[in-house]
Amino acid sequence: MHTFEFMRPQNAAAAITTAAQAKTAQQGADVKFLAGGTTLIDLMKLEVETPSRLVDINRLPFDKIEEIPGGGLKIGATVRNSDLAHHPAVQRNYAVLSQAILSGASGQIRNMATTAGNLLQRTRCMYFRDTAMPCNKREPGTGCSAIIGSNRMLAILGTSEHCIATNPSDMCVALAALEATIHVQGPRGVRAVPIGDFHLLPGNTPNRETVLDPGDLITHVTLPPPVAGSKQVYLKLRDRASYEFALASAAVVISAAGGNVTRVRIALGGVGTKPWRSPEAEAALAGKPANVANFRKAAEAALRNAKPQTENGFKIELAKRCLTHALQTAANG
Ligand SMILES: Cc1cc2nc3c(=O)[nH]c(=O)nc-3n(C[C@H](O)[C@H](O)[C@H](O)COP(=O)(O)OP(=O)(O)OC[C@H]3O[C@@H](n4cnc5c(N)ncnc54)[C@H](O)[C@@H]3O)c2cc1C
Ligand code: SF4
Repeated sequence: MHTFEFMRPQNAAAAITTAAQAKTAQQGADVKFLAGGTTLIDLMKLEVETPSRLVDINRLPFDKIEEIPGGGLKIGATVRNSDLAHHPAVQRNYAVLSQAILSGASGQIRNMATTAGNLLQRTRCMYFRDTAMPCNKREPGTGCSAIIGSNRMLAILGTSEHCIATNPSDMCVALAALEATIHVQGPRGVRAVPIGDFHLLPGNTPNRETVLDPGDLITHVTLPPPVAGSKQVYLKLRDRASYEFALASAAVVISAAGGNVTRVRIALGGVGTKPWRSPEAEAALAGKPANVANFRKAAEAALRNAKPQTENGFKIELAKRCLTHALQTAANG
């Protein structure tokens, strides 16, 4: 049986010093932070993760949501997903984030899950979660079982010959469309990472999923001031209406004047190896009349580089329809 030491530091510096002793902050880390535990404890039960030390961060003072003077929102790392989704400022100004969170998991899980934990949740690829199967993400160099196996749920954008795992988060797709910034405190000091740079493509090193190094603690996430008059929608398509991960999803934040799109931010979920912001779709719509024909053209642009696997070719058309419908719903909203 796997054993581990459990620690509950009283301040961030102590937590960082302990975690900085880990060999890596990525797959196989020997020291891990513990937040809500809904990803980590699951993976420890499966022996996919086997840390020798767990650093419980739940007592650190990162559980607040604060409006930033002058605009914007500061979201603490241990804010629970439920509290974030139901916060009045989020519902008022960042509706796409509230919708995305509430479309995920279940009420009980959202009550435990935290902002930082959600940013770092792991793929649901079945081979990653099964230690009897080869998986480059879990054990580099062993091969990818999904490319020749069951890949219906997996990614069509950002894949490599070494891994095609989908990033499963709904929250992160909304954060990508909102252009959030992730704030990290670590042995090298503090730094701010735009969400687009936070998650890594699998490339040759699918075991490395983010820019985090040993000891790096996410302290909070910030959102820029809301765009006045923008319409926001998160649309998630899945095999059943609740308690299911996305086959395809779209987060859109769109502004229009005189019938033309003046500003749009678009991100896709369920199809990418990371939360998938689409500059191609945004460029296709900028300045154009806000109508269904142009929404469809934007969707075509977003999926132009999609690479289907043996079982998930249907996701290309599904994602296009998802994005077209999300844009239409937002524009009519
Ligand atoms: C049955 C089930 C269904 C789900 N369905 C969905 C869904 O439909 N959509 C969706 O988006 N999600 C879904 N989830 C995932 C869920 O949202 C995540 O498990 C959750 O957000 C993780 O947060 P946590 O606080 O529990 O993380 P933990 O499990 O505590 O931690 C996750 C990882 O983050 C690290 N970590 C945590 N906090 C920090 C920090 N501050 N700094 C650095 N590292 C940190 C931990 O070390 C660990 O590696 C589902 C989960 C389950 C179990
Ligand atoms: S897709 Fe990635 S996570 Fe899934 S088996 Fe292949 S390497 Fe592992």
